[in-house]
Amino acid sequence: MALGEFALIARHFSAAPAGRVALAGGDDCALLDGGDGWQWAVTADMLVEGVHFLPDVDPEALGHKALAVNLSDLAACGAAPRACFLALALPRADEAWLGAFSRGLHALAEAHGCVLAGGDTTRSPGGVTIAITALGEVPRGAALLRSGARVGDDLWVSGHLGDGALGLLMRTGHAPADAAALARLERPQPRVALGRALRGVATSAIDVSDGLAGDLGHVLAASGVGARLDWAAVPRSAALAACDEALQRRCVLAGGDDYELVFTAPPTAREAVSRAGAAAGVAVTRIGTITPASGLLLALPDGATMDIAARAFDHFAP
Ligand code: ADP
Ligand code: MG
Repeated sequence: MALGEFALIARHFSAAPAGRVALAGGDDCALLDGGDGWQWAVTADMLVEGVHFLPDVDPEALGHKALAVNLSDLAACGAAPRACFLALALPRADEAWLGAFSRGLHALAEAHGCVLAGGDTTRSPGGVTIAITALGEVPRGAALLRSGARVGDDLWVSGHLGDGALGLLMRTGHAPADAAALARLERPQPRVALGRALRGVATSAIDVSDGLAGDLGHVLAASGVGARLDWAAVPRSAALAACDEALQRRCVLAGGDDYELVFTAPPTAREAVSRAGAAAGVAVTRIGTITPASGLLLALPDGATMDIAARAFDHFAP
């Protein structure tokens, strides 16, 4: 039987800490011991034409997004971006396309103090592929991990969820276009300042790249806990809230491309979380509780609860 994405990684590319590699695989970033009292957080993410973006996408937005998805993983660990490496496979060297793509990438890199430090460029007949590796810095032991959620913690999310999936439906002509939702799909803002502000406050964090159910599922599995999610509390944009209920749930729970942070913190830290959100200029909303029972329970406004399969978008799902 064909392996799913995560089983495939576990079987063939499982990673283990060794030497200065303090954390390898299974989280948003790996952690490498740096100098006195700090660590490198390192992450790699790839965007493939026809899978992650449409061929006619605005190249400037694509340059932004290719880096944004990596900075989002640094944000999820509470790391400060320092450097990135760009590996680029192109069918042709189109000067206008490259100018716009690099403008988008450089603008976001500069905004976050992230130096483009190297990379690789090659021709590929099959379409554009962009692979970026990003490095950030974090005080030793302070990185936010998926494994830190504790029973009784509050569950929080930044911004609002579901616009990435809704934006894709708009792009493909399946929903009426809304500029704000499209911008959220094409120019996601990595929550770097929030991640840093949550160091020492949040007990765990992940960025939502594959839908809330699956990504929260990774936190629950890594922490050995369950969660109860209050559907009515999940923040949604005006455009998504205007859609029918089933579509809203699909976009939030099983969508993708939101790049918000989902994190946990003890109830005693509620004020500290609000201060972190205010300092970072991002709304933070309490959406549930960490429970001892395993699994993810969705509590609906009418009092009913549903056990939702913790299933993210899987590139190799059978
Ligand atoms: P994210 O969505 O945060 O980028 P992924 O779901 O892509 O994380 O990956 C899950 C975990 O598996 C991460 O820790 C990542 O580093 C690791 N991983 C993914 N692909 C590979 C691979 N080909 N070799 C080694 N580790 C991998
Ligand atoms: Mg991630």
